Amino acid sequence: MTDHAQYLIQQEPFYQPLHQEVELYQAAWDERLPVMIKGPTGCGKSRFVEYMAWKLGRPLITVACNEDMTASDLVGRYLLDADGTRWLDGPLTTAARIGAICYLDEIVEARQDTTVVIHPLTDHRRTLPLDKKGEQVAAHADFQLVISYNPGYQSLMKDLKQSTKQRFAALHFDYADPDHEADIIARETGTPRDQAVRLVKIAATARNLKGHGLDEGISTRLLVYAARLINRDIAPRLACRMALVDPITDDAEIRDTLYHAIDAVF
Ligand code: ADP
Repeated sequence: MTDHAQYLIQQEPFYQPLHQEVELYQAAWDERLPVMIKGPTGCGKSRFVEYMAWKLGRPLITVACNEDMTASDLVGRYLLDADGTRWLDGPLTTAARIGAICYLDEIVEARQDTTVVIHPLTDHRRTLPLDKKGEQVAAHADFQLVISYNPGYQSLMKDLKQSTKQRFAALHFDYADPDHEADIIARETGTPRDQAVRLVKIAATARNLKGHGLDEGISTRLLVYAARLINRDIAPRLACRMALVDPITDDAEIRDTLYHAIDAVF
């Protein structure tokens, strides 16, 4: 039997609530509804799920989804060892057995034939069939499924099927408003608030370029990186180029625009 203690979050993660997401999630949890968290990368989705798992005192099992992932990677497989074959539960099966919150991060990255394995867990059945093993796992009463996805990357090739979407209640996330985002950066990195405010201003310029040469704006995660580099005595302009601009664009014109935005602030 898997020890569920290893999946418990020991210390309260810092999470700054922005709207009513904590109450809404709590209600969804009370009903054991599957939850979908939508929003751009680096805006706080995973941090929120960690925080909620801590607050609810539930173990959290996170899976970073990718296109090579198969149903067996989620459900489990037989392994060959010295004593013959042995079944090894996958993370979804472990979560269903121990009553964890299973967080499938960036679910659209997974192929649709992989995604469908979650279906029987998300309706009244709350079971997970292990076809290869010939076992039906009845989900623990505290099991909950949470998925995240970034609607920005949505395309016809990469989207969830309606039959999958319509199994979830959704919470819409976005970058925090400037005041809260500055608080988050200051709190997360110990950087002075006025410095955090300047970083947020640079992000605003980049976020306005979304759809005009940038696929995605500068995330809160990258602002945190920039503050950490500045804390290491890297000159702010250099830190911002390194953390905020160079990772997100290869386009010389956009880069220059953003370099100018940095120079106007620092
Ligand atoms: P994603 O949306 O990609 O899952 P994360 O949850 O990893 O993003 O957030 C990236 C970083 O942004 C976190 O590590 C944290 O530093 C910061 N962050 C964003 N929003 C919040 C928030 N509301 N409260 C606390 N930290 C936040």
